[in-house]
Amino acid sequence: MELGQGKGRIAYGIVKRLAEAGYVAYFAGGCVRDDLMHECPGDYDIATSASPDDVEKLFPKTIAVGKQFGVIIVVEGDAQFEVATFRREGSYRDGRHPSEVSFTDPEEDAKRRDFTVNGLFYDPIQNKVIDYVGGQKDLQAKIIRAIGAPDERFEEDKLRLLRAVRFASVLGFEIEPATWSAVCRRFQEIHDVSPERIRDEIVKMLTRPGADRGLDLLSRSCLLKEILPEIEAMKNIQQPPAFHPEGDVFVHTKLMLAQLKNPSKELALAVLFHDVGKPPTLAVRDGHITFYEHAPLGARMTETIMRRLRFSNDEIETVAGCVENHMRFGDVQKMREGKLKRLLTRPTFELELELHRIDCVTSHGHLDNYGFLKAKQKEYAAEELKPAPLINGHDLIRLGMQPGPDMKPFLEEIYDLQLEGQIKDKDAALAYAQNQLRMKSKKAQ
Ligand code: ATP
Ligand code: MG
Repeated sequence: MELGQGKGRIAYGIVKRLAEAGYVAYFAGGCVRDDLMHECPGDYDIATSASPDDVEKLFPKTIAVGKQFGVIIVVEGDAQFEVATFRREGSYRDGRHPSEVSFTDPEEDAKRRDFTVNGLFYDPIQNKVIDYVGGQKDLQAKIIRAIGAPDERFEEDKLRLLRAVRFASVLGFEIEPATWSAVCRRFQEIHDVSPERIRDEIVKMLTRPGADRGLDLLSRSCLLKEILPEIEAMKNIQQPPAFHPEGDVFVHTKLMLAQLKNPSKELALAVLFHDVGKPPTLAVRDGHITFYEHAPLGARMTETIMRRLRFSNDEIETVAGCVENHMRFGDVQKMREGKLKRLLTRPTFELELELHRIDCVTSHGHLDNYGFLKAKQKEYAAEELKPAPLINGHDLIRLGMQPGPDMKPFLEEIYDLQLEGQIKDKDAALAYAQNQLRMKSKKAQ
């Protein structure tokens, strides 16, 4: 294993210290798998024969978050490492949490893990992989296989149903037939898992390569119709071939996911949800397939789904905003300048622009609106795109306007004229407002 200078080197130091104190200590699980696949591990977990108390005594800075499960966090500088005592898990209370743990040897610890490729240890001092579960063979063959009897392992912990699909997706592996058929039989049990854990798996899957295949695996296993029925409903929703020669809404969404490269979770989710409003708005009018108002409906659906999965308010607002706005990009060349400038200054504009670009390249292929917006961004770069409004609500009240719902659109209209350069200073803005108000009151008489 190449330890480099970063976290791997520090993790090696922790193992060495444990070994010098007479304990067995290995790198364990995901980091061994990633390293053998020549990927840089995100985290290094360490498994050891030392008890949690022993670990606390050996290292100056520790956190006892999971002490009753045998896990101590060792803090070294900015980095944290999970150091877990080799353990076996007792019976599972609720399909998710073991009711007790007790300490054991490395072999039993390997066998309580979920999939063979996640059950490997590595001894960095001897430079040796320790494999009790056939993980190396499966890693070479690119196979996700439950350790032991698949049904029992999924029965113990239902999150593993989703983890099987997520690892197959992210690693680009096949799921071994007995493991796969257990997932396909037990898909409904995913409801025993908390929405937060489901959310974390979905995000991990969508933000890594292979997300398009992951979505397919979710659908084929029937997990998708349990956790995201609104996405499953996009299957077989046909679209006008002139705009979407690539196929139905589900196929289009998968093609978009395939275009993502290291996306933020907001972009990945915006892609997943951008057309979620299409199935319920499908209508054939004069022989044409239409999806009127699918963007605003899709935004409301996105909010409901993301709330169900316990995303934060900020995440929900950002993603639902992208969904709501995505059809406006088709009109940008006809937009008045003020409206265009407001679009360009939305805090999520870059995200929305990227969503639009991917939407186009995976359907009709026309990037003229994208090119237009890029050019406008350059053109406006020197100008102040978001000047302070020349007048506000107080000014309107002073001119005699009653506070109420008419005020906001009126101020926006004046702001647009300011952005377009038609109103240049405060006096001109006040004069325009006064004039408009006078005309309105005349009309009302
Ligand atoms: P990643 O961090 O990239 O998601 P990972 O393999 O490190 O992948 P973690 O969730 O960090 O996954 O868990 C670390 C290790 O703990 C796994 O490799 C596996 O051995 C074990 N593990 C984690 N979750 C489970 C589970 N639900 N059932 C059994 N073993 C698990
Ligand atoms: Mg991990």
